[in-house]
Amino acid sequence: MSTSMLYHAFGASGIKYITTDYSDGQITIKAEMTTQCLQCPKCSNCQFKFRGKRLRRLHAPPIGKKKTFLDVILHRVECAKCSHLYWPVLPFMKETKRMTRSFIRLAGELLAFGTIQDVAEFLGVGWDTIKRIHKNDLQAKYRTIPLEDVEYVSIDEFSIKKGHKYMTVVTDLQSGAIIHAVEGRKKEDIAPFFKKLKKKFKAESHLHGHESVIHTRCEGILTRDRYCI
Ligand SMILES: [Zn+2]
Repeated sequence: MSTSMLYHAFGASGIKYITTDYSDGQITIKAEMTTQCLQCPKCSNCQFKFRGKRLRRLHAPPIGKKKTFLDVILHRVECAKCSHLYWPVLPFMKETKRMTRSFIRLAGELLAFGTIQDVAEFLGVGWDTIKRIHKNDLQAKYRTIPLEDVEYVSIDEFSIKKGHKYMTVVTDLQSGAIIHAVEGRKKEDIAPFFKKLKKKFKAESHLHGHESVIHTRCEGILTRDRYCI
């Protein structure tokens, strides 16, 4: 292992390799933060002093089947210009998460081939950890869904919490993708979404009473309820 290997294998920059430990059936790579990549988050100054340090342990992608950790000696930084004191977040870290960006990326990629439980067992972390990564990936991916090409939509509802609550889903009939989901099944629950749709399109509703909302929000619309022909 070397500083160069840390960069190329784990995408870890801004640290210098120290040692590797192979005990307890796992691999622990120790490294120390360097002065590279440091810029004051308040005034963008690059002059600073170190004020204290601590060891931070991060999950890194496994090497072979061995669980791998990156132990980084982090220095607390004081800006020489504005005296702002802070713990830096290095490029391979993601906020305060206890795993490297490369580990998070690997977990996300593995989820294309296995369940959350499979990935958790392979990477040696808890189900909740992988679930959170999956959730964040999905939120990032579907935060904005392009609606320009949507021509036909289907609206349906399903019950949650043993029938005490409902969710309404709007689906693009051509691609089969869910383009909107909202808690509730009343007109006012789905109205904001149809307000966003500013084009003419056709809807097939499985719900009674939503036609008025759709007609109000979208001009020239055709609605059809296949269960009430
Ligand atoms: Zn500063």
